[in-house]
Formats: sequence, structure tokens, C-alpha cells
Amino acid sequence: MQAQASATAGTTEETMTVSTAGLQRKSDLLRRFARNAQFEAQTGIRREHLLKALGLIAREPAPVTRAVIARLTGLTSATASSLVAELIALGLVVETGRAESTGGKRATRLEIARDAYLVVVAVVRTRAIDTALVDLAGRTVASRRLDVAGGMEVATVVDAIRALTEGFEPQVLAACVQVPGVTAGGVVVESVQLGWRGVPLAGIVEEAIGAPASVVNDVDAEALTEAVDADDGAIRLVVHLGEGVGAAITNGGTLMSGATGRAGEIGHVRVIYEGERTRCRCGLSGCLESATSMSAMLGDAYTDELDDHDTSLLASTAEARERMGFGARALARALRISSALLDPEEIVIAGAAPALGPHFLGTLRDEYEMYPAKGTTPVPIRYGRPELSEYLGPARFALAPVLGDALPLTPAR
Ligand SMILES: [Zn+2]
Repeated sequence: MQAQASATAGTTEETMTVSTAGLQRKSDLLRRFARNAQFEAQTGIRREHLLKALGLIAREPAPVTRAVIARLTGLTSATASSLVAELIALGLVVETGRAESTGGKRATRLEIARDAYLVVVAVVRTRAIDTALVDLAGRTVASRRLDVAGGMEVATVVDAIRALTEGFEPQVLAACVQVPGVTAGGVVVESVQLGWRGVPLAGIVEEAIGAPASVVNDVDAEALTEAVDADDGAIRLVVHLGEGVGAAITNGGTLMSGATGRAGEIGHVRVIYEGERTRCRCGLSGCLESATSMSAMLGDAYTDELDDHDTSLLASTAEARERMGFGARALARALRISSALLDPEEIVIAGAAPALGPHFLGTLRDEYEMYPAKGTTPVPIRYGRPELSEYLGPARFALAPVLGDALPLTPAR
């Protein structure tokens, strides 16, 4: 999954000229779109119209022309033309030949310039940083891994982002940093794994690269990735199993983060009241995490750095099988209540869980279905999709403050 092309900066005079023009274009775009205090307030209606036109060009299955935009938005054709002119000037839209005529002269088709801009994603783990550049089609055009010995420093993250984006400055539209821990409004409130507390990371990254930056929690990012082609407005409950247990809820492609950003923190909810209760790392016992985390089921040899193969090996012993049965039962109870509350379209078991194989998923489904609740609909339970690029969710999160959800980043085909 890692390291495709490596990023190199052009140094010829010609490149420098293009680069300056590109920087100007990007800054025009950010001034027009970004909801950012550093730019003066813009006329909101024009911005909304531009986003609407952009969304139509991105989503409409039939060829979109200026006339189609006018018809579908109810705006005058003069306004539609001026919106398109601005989107072309900003580099977001290109003209691509002629659409089929419906009588009269043939109109010019419009498409999104999918490779004009890039989003930078940094996934910060305990011992490594993965950085990637994702284009507006959701394709990863460059990625790198940096292994980090000792503690993770904020400066190391910023350097890794700078190293990847060097030479791409005119194209980098937004950034998202994914971290383990509690995040709110661009701040890492607390990350026990990284040893960070109250780090205003989004602001620091924004300063470093000159583009809007966001910070997202790792489980939330995973949920956004699972919802990445969810223009359907479906509610999804995504449960992450790793050294810890967490969950996130998405509504369409949007996170439901809760009043304090902690929606989905189900790991330390007590679900085992009777019989054998294991002490949890939080100090209490009977928590969901004490039964269902990968560490609880596979033993202390499990860490989040293990690959799928090694995880599967740990899951193959008789002892692990038994603990997985216990874990599945505890998780099924939590899912019963959660799904009755949320009425989700589906439940996704993600994180390292897919490496547990079909046996765990089957047991979980059986346990879930064993106690049907009157008045509720049984919810399908599936594993996360390992074929999805993990950068899609964070890239979508990064783009939201700039272009809203006008450009859906779908899995690259
Ligand atoms: Zn606990």
C-alpha cells in the first residue's frame, strides 16, 4: 500500500513561473471558498452558487453544460456562465468537447479537473508517520512512510508533511492529520498513545504549508473512509478493534461527533456484569474493551503494528478462539443497544478485526441475532473494506472546510 511515486520538485525557470501563477490561483480559490478567519468575509450567496455548480458537474451522470447548470439551479444562463467562468479560472473545472445537441448549436461539456489540486494526508501512529498526496479523484499520487524511533514530536510530523508537499505547494489545497486520541476543532485534546495534550496541530500545519488544515481522530477517519461512497445518506456505525475499542457514527459522509467530540467512545462501557470479569487497562473491570479489544482476544503479543498475517496467526490458537467467542458475545450486546438507538443501515467492524477471519464475524452475527429485540430491525454486520485506501476518509475531511461536500472523493477506479 505504501510508497508509490516519490515526490520531486521541479527547479527549472519554467516550473517556477508556472508555480507562481499556480500559487496565485490557489490563493484566489482559498479566498473564494475557505471558511477561514484569515480571509475577509465573502459574499455567501455567490459561494453557495459556485459550490452548487461544482457539485452538479461532479455528480450528474449526464454531461453537464452551462445550460444544464442554469436549468437545474434555476439561475439565469448569464449567471450560470459566470459561475462556470470562475470555476474554470480557479482551475477546478475544464471544458471537454461538445455535448450532444438537442437542437441548435452544440454546447460545451464541463468536467472537474480531478488532477488540478491535491490534498495532503498525514497518518500519525505511535512509531511511524504515513503521508500521502490525494488528488480530487481520490487517487493517491504519492505516499511515504517515515519510521520514528523514540517519542513522536509535532515537529517531526510537520517536517514529514513539508517533505512530501515540497514542489507541490501551488496544488496543495488542504491538509488533514490523523492522530490516535481525542481531537476537537483542530486541537489534539489528548493522545495517550503519542503523549500529546492540548496540541493546536491544525494551526501549526496550516502555518507550515499555507493551506487550511484539520485534525481527525483515527477511528473517525476510518469511519469516513468506510462511508466514502455514501452519497446515500445512510447512517453507519463503525466499530474499531485494535489495542483499544472505539466507534464512530457517520450520516452520509458526515461524522456525528457529539457535543464534546466523544460520540463513539464505547470502549469503557461496562457490558459484563456477571461471571468472569477481566480487569481493564482503565482500572475498572467488565468494560467492552476488556473483552473485545484485539489485545484481550489475542493476548499481549498483539500490537497495532502487527500485519494481517501475524494477527491471523495469533487468532488461530484454541485459546484465542475461545476468547474471541467471549469477545464476540460482549460486542454483540453493545451492538444490540447501539443499533436500537441509531437504527443504522449497517454495522462495520473495522480496525484490525478483518484479520480475525470469517469465524469471528460469524460468531458475532450469531450472538447478535440470538436475542432479537422487538420493534427493531436486524442490522447487517460486515467487516471494513481493506481494499479502500485509508487516505480517503481524511482527504474528504480535509476538503470539507474548503469545498464542503461538493466534490465526493470516491474510491479510485
Ligand atoms: Zn475500561
